[in-house]
Amino acid sequence: MLKKGVPTALPFFYPIEMKSIIIAIDGHSACGKSTLARDLARELGYAYIDTGAMYRAVTLYFLENGVDWTDPVAVKKALEDIQIEFRANGSGNQTLLNGKVVEQAIRQMQVSEQVSQVSAISAVRRAMVAQQQAMGRKRKVVLDGRDIGTVVFPDADLKIFLTASEDERVRRRFEELQAKGLSVSMAEVRKNLLDRDRIDSSREDSPLRQAEDARVLDNTHLNRAEQLALALAWVREVLEK
Ligand code: C5P
Repeated sequence: MLKKGVPTALPFFYPIEMKSIIIAIDGHSACGKSTLARDLARELGYAYIDTGAMYRAVTLYFLENGVDWTDPVAVKKALEDIQIEFRANGSGNQTLLNGKVVEQAIRQMQVSEQVSQVSAISAVRRAMVAQQQAMGRKRKVVLDGRDIGTVVFPDADLKIFLTASEDERVRRRFEELQAKGLSVSMAEVRKNLLDRDRIDSSREDSPLRQAEDARVLDNTHLNRAEQLALALAWVREVLEK
């Protein structure tokens, strides 16, 4: 049955275990994908896979080990040495890189500034997508990223394309980084979000785009509980189909 969490306006009153579905959430940087994905996973008792954290972990490994990512041989070798896992903790997931918790380290600006270059490399994408597909094989999973509904799980049962205004995204990400004690200016945050959006949307391999059958959720003027309620209403529709 449903777990307790953020109050929802449209609670479920029937056994949701009946059907096992995949929920794909895509969208631009900092529009609240991970918050919605985490909330949905908690409400439904599903697993949550933060695919952005995986690309961030690869980037952190490349930076820490001085991997030249313009060299395909070096990239191939490094990918063989990288193991990424998620461990559930109280408030969500913790990302582990080769057994070490890197949750904080992967959110640093230094990683944010390079991650879109690294995630544009096809060999990196192939390795991550294969892992994501394996993790979601049993369904009952919520994944968020840029190519989930288009490439990783084009057959996802519910595809949400999340969006919010640029100013709102900058404000939210700035506050999030400040709360984590990471010192960064609002201008730096804006530049990073816009740079990543540009690279993520224009790369050749799996660019960010809205899947044709995705439902758009603009959360610029919605709070956390309201966006969750809307998404849960869509989940209900899918489950009742
Ligand atoms: O979701 P998050 O902002 O943490 O993702 C960091 C970066 O990882 C994105 O800007 C993008 O370059 C890359 N990414 C991707 N495909 C995904 C998820 C993230 O290319 N499915």
